[in-house]
Amino acid sequence: MIIFYSSEKLKNHLNSVLSGQKTIGFAPTMGALHQGHVSLVAAAKKLCDVVVCSIFVNPTQFNDLSDLDKYPRTLEADKALLVSAGCDILFAPEINEIYSAEELELKRQHKEDKSWMLGKNVDFGLLDKVMEGAHRPGHFNGVAQVVSKLFRIVEPHKAFFGQKDFQQLSVIRSMVKQLEMPLEIVACPIVREADGLAMSSRNTRLSVEERKNVTKISGTLFSVKEEYKNKPVSELIQQVEDLFKNDPCMTLEYFDIVDSSSIQTIDSFGSAKSAVACIAVKLESVRLIDNIVLF
Ligand code: AMP
Repeated sequence: MIIFYSSEKLKNHLNSVLSGQKTIGFAPTMGALHQGHVSLVAAAKKLCDVVVCSIFVNPTQFNDLSDLDKYPRTLEADKALLVSAGCDILFAPEINEIYSAEELELKRQHKEDKSWMLGKNVDFGLLDKVMEGAHRPGHFNGVAQVVSKLFRIVEPHKAFFGQKDFQQLSVIRSMVKQLEMPLEIVACPIVREADGLAMSSRNTRLSVEERKNVTKISGTLFSVKEEYKNKPVSELIQQVEDLFKNDPCMTLEYFDIVDSSSIQTIDSFGSAKSAVACIAVKLESVRLIDNIVLF
């Protein structure tokens, strides 16, 4: 695996790859890699000639600065995992490779930077107004900002994202369409621990006690999947809210059942084309999200 820390050097290298007519698959990550990330690399290896993975803890997508400070950074272990996964190229830039001083200053002033829109008026409509968008102000703008920058550096043919961040996938698909970026977004299934917990870099921050309790999150989603044919949407939502009401360890930020295209709450299972149950839970040390496709 070749490692690049400089955007310029990576671009030069990829240009030679492109002139060799090879297809580039790209998996952007924030590091602290686990089998969920490895599954993106594996999917990219199947569909593309050259696989690039990036590790960059993107400050502009964090609305909570303590979450950014505490975000796990495990570059050496990540490199080893990527080598064993068969990744060809790792891009691990320092912050000034990605952001100018002006852009970082805007972030410091909590101002939303729209320069990544490249003069267009990219509008996510309702996609970034609900769930994660509603609870993490500026989060999706930061995600779109960094992903658009990374796409312009790597120029992949296909980019691989996990369904674990289900709403993020919709926002990125919308961004790619509106900016007319010539690449395909490939969605990869959620990879879970043996007890059902969705793998996440933030799981390493859970205390032993919390780790035991968090199986309730995926367990709730699995129950909803079993029950949805017999209960209306509103009853299921109420049931989940009640389940977390007096939980001393976890606070439910939201539970919703949404259409997979519009990301808006569905009225009824009968009239919906698709349904995804999404959940966000806050524990003392960390905030976790998960989801399950019902149909
Ligand atoms: P992150 O490093 O958390 O920003 O995630 C980088 C990419 O890995 C995103 O596309 C995530 O959706 C994906 N990812 C994270 N966790 C999982 C998982 N458990 N299963 C599948 N993909 C995942």
